Amino acid sequence: METIDRGSAGSARVAIVGGIHGDEPAGERIVRRLADELDAEGDGAGDGLVRLIIANERALASEARYTDTDLNRAFPGDADSDEYERALAPRLAAELKGMDAVLALHTSHSAPPPFAIYSDLTPSVRRSVTAMPVDYVVDASGLRGTTLDSTIPHTVSIEVGRQGSEEAVEFGYEACLAFLRAHGALDDEPPTFTETTVVAGDEEVPKGGGEPTVHFDNFEEIPAGAVFAEDDVYTHRVEEAGVVPILASEEGYEEIFGIYGRVMGTLEPPASAGETAIGSEAVEETDEAGGTDEAGGTDEAGGTDEAGGTDEAGGTDEEVDETVEEAETE
Ligand SMILES: [Zn+2]
Repeated sequence: METIDRGSAGSARVAIVGGIHGDEPAGERIVRRLADELDAEGDGAGDGLVRLIIANERALASEARYTDTDLNRAFPGDADSDEYERALAPRLAAELKGMDAVLALHTSHSAPPPFAIYSDLTPSVRRSVTAMPVDYVVDASGLRGTTLDSTIPHTVSIEVGRQGSEEAVEFGYEACLAFLRAHGALDDEPPTFTETTVVAGDEEVPKGGGEPTVHFDNFEEIPAGAVFAEDDVYTHRVEEAGVVPILASEEGYEEIFGIYGRVMGTLEPPASAGETAIGSEAVEETDEAGGTDEAGGTDEAGGTDEAGGTDEAGGTDEEVDETVEEAETE
């Protein structure tokens, strides 16, 4: 792991993490470019921090997704583990402790468009997502609880494009600048916010064996009765309307064709007319996820509006504090 600290134009402490997966060189390239640019521009008028991290140097050196185990399935990890990534996870988590916002960079074998992912919708996360140039964000709280964004508070992951492409580097770099502006770390121009479509991740779609075929693109609605993907073992026919694929690919993952998702609504920018309505939803999800695996399970069941009503009632002081905190940084 390599950590490069840069000054911030504001007071927020933010981090950008590249190279979680060693076969995704775009993340490291984006981080190094940021390190050069932020230095050159001489930012640092504020007392905040921009922390740039290249996470999995050993996997990057071997150009493999991981060496012992997938780092983004290994959180919170174990410092005493013999597995490189499982031991790396708590070291990375320590570097991210207390951050006001974290952005984790990824690329995939999947088709465009780029999109963001969160597991716990805090005000900081909403700010990051709506500032970046993505039309979609995946709520992954119902999926695995062992990823970076499901264990480190205020983390957004972003899929910046196709693995190995120059477009992914360019897009990812621009997304990072937008992230930094959103949190006041970069003041070259004011941040801009746009609403983002939220897609809840429902379940992984398993692969069997033989020749894989995927029939639908990311976020393209699969008509009821249509086959999403198939191989020699599985024919995944979607029985109900409203299902869209996430991370759909034939060869990208050994074990899955992708993830079934469902469009849940829209995430509104902060400090807009939509803030009150979405704010209560954000509070709900903050409450639910709680940063633990158990909560993740709860979330899966409760990914509906009804659950929102329930959780709203259970708001805590901590959430109020978060709201106030964000109001101050507006
Ligand atoms: Zn990745």
